[in-house]
Amino acid sequence: MNIGIIGAGLSGIVAARELMRHGHTVELIEKSRSVGGRLATRRIGDGKADHGAVYFTVRGEELKQDVADWQTRGWVNVWYADPYPRYVAVDGMNALAKRLADGLTVQLNERAETITTRDGQVRVQTDVTTRQYDRLLITSPLPQTLDLLTDFSVDAALRELTYAPTCVGLFEFRSEIAIGPDGILDTGLAPGILKIVNNRQKGVSDTELISVYMDESWSEEWYERADEDTLCGIERLLQTVTGSAVIQSRQLKRWRYAQAADVWNEPFYQVNGQIYLAGDVFLEPDDASGRTRFESAYVSGLRVAEALR
Ligand SMILES: Cc1cc2nc3c(=O)[nH]c(=O)nc-3n(C[C@H](O)[C@H](O)[C@H](O)COP(=O)(O)OP(=O)(O)OC[C@H]3O[C@@H](n4cnc5c(N)ncnc54)[C@H](O)[C@@H]3O)c2cc1C
Repeated sequence: MNIGIIGAGLSGIVAARELMRHGHTVELIEKSRSVGGRLATRRIGDGKADHGAVYFTVRGEELKQDVADWQTRGWVNVWYADPYPRYVAVDGMNALAKRLADGLTVQLNERAETITTRDGQVRVQTDVTTRQYDRLLITSPLPQTLDLLTDFSVDAALRELTYAPTCVGLFEFRSEIAIGPDGILDTGLAPGILKIVNNRQKGVSDTELISVYMDESWSEEWYERADEDTLCGIERLLQTVTGSAVIQSRQLKRWRYAQAADVWNEPFYQVNGQIYLAGDVFLEPDDASGRTRFESAYVSGLRVAEALR
């Protein structure tokens, strides 16, 4: 079959690899200039900073086996293991997405805009061209997915699922500044800060780059404000940890759909005989964590590929 996938984040990439392995022709459509979605890393000066997923954890056997393989290939490492392993990608989380997507057909810088079905085919109108497939998988965050499906009937409960935004400040320091023993602090922080990560201690950066992840209510409140105001707000809170250490540069990343507040208790959703939905919000009913995360995106990609096969 000829299968189209909207979104080259982890779930789309995992599904594409699986489908290709079983002999299907697969094409990913990705609106950004790179694959990875929320597995995101930014190059700043001579360093790199993750500003999406911080690390990932492993509960299921399938991801455990793949991670063992990725470790052998030198793609991922254990960052710290207190009390269970936190895995990070070598060269930043986005590098893992790129390695996994190697060999896949990906149309970058192309945004899917409308979906129609006719004569057993699914047509995707993008801002570049029209593409046609036997089956279509959509892996964008649900609000973006549902915008594409206005002409299709989907379970009303899917429209009820909400997402929380996250603001992430990226700060480049002139001199070394240790963030805890491992490069991460996630307790005892000023209200508003969820996590502070030192990308050098994490093994991602050669330079002193700190990622500051703001919590849901802070991010909600500050989301629409000007970049400069938001960065000043984050910097003031960061200084409760870094004191007067000199900041060389700073940047902001806003995620409108960082994490879903609720989940869907099936690993994928079938809209009709031709269109399927997957992504981190689609969890197996017996998911041990109940949260959207790297592993839920991975498992959703695997399960929807099994169904499409
Ligand atoms: C700030 C932050 C911190 C996080 N921290 C962690 C963590 O520490 N541990 C953890 O396990 N998880 C974490 N996560 C969650 C994890 O990153 C996600 O669960 C996972 O990466 C989601 O993968 P996905 O494929 O479902 O979606 P995405 O990665 O969002 O992929 C969807 C893709 O679809 C593309 N797209 C959207 N609309 C269109 C369109 N119309 N046309 C074409 N392309 C489109 C997007 O550009 C994107 O690339 C974090 C996420 C964020 C944002």
